[in-house]
Amino acid sequence: MYGQILDAINIGILVMDTGYTVTDWNRWMEIHGEKKREEIVGRGLFELFPHLNTPNFVRSCKSVVSFGNYVYFSQKLHNYLFPFKPTGFNAASFEFMQQSCSMAPVKDGEGKVSHIAIMVQNVTDQVYLERSLRTMSQLDGLTEVSNRRFLDTRLEEEFNRFKRSGRGFSLAMLDIDNFKYVNDTFGHNFGDQVLKTLSRTCGAVMRSSDILARFGGEEFCLVLPDTDLEGATTICERIRQAVESMKVTYNDEADVPITVSVGVARTEPTLESHERLIKNADVALYESKAKGKNRVTAYAGD
Ligand code: GH3
Ligand code: MG
Ligand code: MG
Repeated sequence: MYGQILDAINIGILVMDTGYTVTDWNRWMEIHGEKKREEIVGRGLFELFPHLNTPNFVRSCKSVVSFGNYVYFSQKLHNYLFPFKPTGFNAASFEFMQQSCSMAPVKDGEGKVSHIAIMVQNVTDQVYLERSLRTMSQLDGLTEVSNRRFLDTRLEEEFNRFKRSGRGFSLAMLDIDNFKYVNDTFGHNFGDQVLKTLSRTCGAVMRSSDILARFGGEEFCLVLPDTDLEGATTICERIRQAVESMKVTYNDEADVPITVSVGVARTEPTLESHERLIKNADVALYESKAKGKNRVTAYAGD
């Protein structure tokens, strides 16, 4: 009777004796492991799955046999125990089915552990959702660059690293010129289109280690790790030029020219906080605006 239940349950079950010989392999394992019970039962676990033969796994088995312990193998640490094909809607995002597994003692009539049961749960969909949520919570909904919350976290991390190791970084503030005019003249939807195109344009110029974030409204922030003021100014000048020559077409008719003003600042030994760095970049940005917009200014110091 229990055999039928084990075959109906939506969990993989493998049972082995204390010498690692497999004694049971339920229907779920047959389906996802693509191997029949007859091909598995009677064979050694490590002969079937050599990658499981690690000191950590063997130690876990021994603790189940010696002390009757239960062991949990979290997907977060191991991803999977059995390399099965992923299933479901999100299968294409994974090479292998993501599994949370547990191991439990099976005792004989005298109360001695004679077997070990390994239970396998398919958590692929859950992992996919967790990953999507994490990504979504870090991105700006409109432009899909990093959002302000992610920027604050990363800036603080970068700043702490700078204080610890002295590895400096630069920060640029970008602000679209006359954006209110763009919105008022061509409409808010077109303004949104500009924000999206501008994000893509910046993304194409910057390096993969740089972080572009929407600071708010039509202001963006660019974090440039391991970059001095001169290097950062060069990259920002490239971005400024790329924006100047990018095309955002209004109603399939005219290309509307867009420009940005930029302020760049760099971590100095005396810098007390990452907020101060933003402030310095902002001072430089203000200077770019005051000098006539569409330019890059480096913060000159106090
Ligand atoms: P300046 O050159 O001095 O920066 O002038 P500006 O017009 O760009 O500056 P201002 O701060 O006066 O205007 C910013 C405008 O940005 C006002 C606001 O309507 C617009 N804006 C902010 N967020 C969004 C958004 O998400 N979508 C759109 N379409 N517009 C936005
Ligand atoms: Mg602004
Ligand atoms: Mg502006």
